Amino acid sequence: GPTKAGTTGRGAKAGGSGRSNSGVRGSTTGKKGTGSGKSGKADSVNGDAEDGKSKRGQYEGPDPDLAEMLERDVLDSTPGVRWDDVAGLTEAKRLLEEAVVLPLLMPEYFQGIRRPWKGILMFGPPGTGKTLLAKAVASECGTTFFNVSSATLASKWRGESERMVRCLFDLARAYAPSTIFIDEIDSLCNARGASGEHESSRRVKSELLVQVDGVSNSSTNEDGSRKIVMVLAATNFPWDIDEALRRRLEKRIYIPLPTFDSRKELIRINLKTVEVAPDVDIDDVARRTEGYSGDDLTNVCRDASLNGMRRKIAGKTRDEIKNMSKDEISKDPVAMCDFEEALTKVQPSVSAADVERHEKWFSEFGSA
Ligand code: ADP
Repeated sequence: GPTKAGTTGRGAKAGGSGRSNSGVRGSTTGKKGTGSGKSGKADSVNGDAEDGKSKRGQYEGPDPDLAEMLERDVLDSTPGVRWDDVAGLTEAKRLLEEAVVLPLLMPEYFQGIRRPWKGILMFGPPGTGKTLLAKAVASECGTTFFNVSSATLASKWRGESERMVRCLFDLARAYAPSTIFIDEIDSLCNARGASGEHESSRRVKSELLVQVDGVSNSSTNEDGSRKIVMVLAATNFPWDIDEALRRRLEKRIYIPLPTFDSRKELIRINLKTVEVAPDVDIDDVARRTEGYSGDDLTNVCRDASLNGMRRKIAGKTRDEIKNMSKDEISKDPVAMCDFEEALTKVQPSVSAADVERHEKWFSEFGSA
């Protein structure tokens, strides 16, 4: 169903490096219905075609070709992630609710001294749920979601990157209210980049600064209400972000590794779709996965839940496998021994030194 759209793309990402070069991730072209209720998932299917077309007609800016490409590649119509799909991170959810969701709900209140933050940065080790949170924000407030990876801004559209940034913000205004999510924002201003790329990435960055500045005094709708565009960014390397950009990302939210309670919640979320044997001790698994990221833990659950099948097909020929009944394969619940095995295979991908570095950066630049 459409609810899966938000997660499939990330499945392929290895938990280890955190610097996936997956580029721009988006799924479908239409815009989902703006209904933001819990039932929005089903609504969005019907809303797609019609809604997408009419919205598309609204964009009358320059670079229609580029705009179309962006609509195809970075417009993620159905993130379909709810707050409840994100385990733990209560504080981050609260901050995001206040910084993003509320200003969208009551734009009149958030003016003057109460104006929304220009940009919000989520930082922390890889695989801790930053992308998931951004998608939840977009789904929870029913805004159009633009999902951009800055690795792509800097490379795929090389030479056109500034135009592309400008066009992205034009488009976001046309689709307002909208959320622009820029993943791996550090790669835009990585001082250690190859010297040949310096000039173009500098230009992209200054265009981004101009656009982010422009967001807070953005234009108004015909009825006088403001067209709200929220800028959300994520990084696994906050210390690589230079001062100019950091100043624009006024709210900086730390997304840490999951706590014991969050790990329990995460395991439960991950096992929702499979049958679990009574001997599975979730507390025990959570206790033994200290230091695992959400992504690592998801890999543990995925591996454990595939183990029953592995046992079933061991020693069988292709033909025998083909002739097995569906029940025979899927009826085997995930057992504690499957977790034992998965735990030996999946190791935590984040080092203690990395965590320490994030905590230090948090104490210096983070928002509480
Ligand atoms: P990041 O953007 O921080 O690198 P992601 O949000 O892409 O990490 O998380 C990668 C995957 O790990 C998600 O698709 C999800 O399956 C799992 N995951 C990580 N953190 C959480 C969490 N707090 N709650 C639920 N799932 C999580």
